[in-house]
Amino acid sequence: MAVKYVPERQCVVCRNRFAKPDLIRFVNGADGGVSLDPSGRMNGRGAYLCHNAECHEKARKAGIVDRHLKRKVDDSIWEALAGEHS
Ligand SMILES: [Zn+2]
Repeated sequence: MAVKYVPERQCVVCRNRFAKPDLIRFVNGADGGVSLDPSGRMNGRGAYLCHNAECHEKARKAGIVDRHLKRKVDDSIWEALAGEHS
């Protein structure tokens, strides 16, 4: 029986590695903004964040994802993520 290979990616904040499906992918969209990529298949420069609320806060406050993508992450995206923790 073949062992299924699960690609791992690193959270840009805590630097821990997670299976790709367990991370939130931010991607530079064709519209010039940043969007979330639930499928993990969108083209463009991407950055990964784990589901830890602390990482979301740090990333937002310190602009870590913004720095990775060289674009501003819209507040509406952070608000959508914050909804995960309420
Ligand atoms: Zn993290």
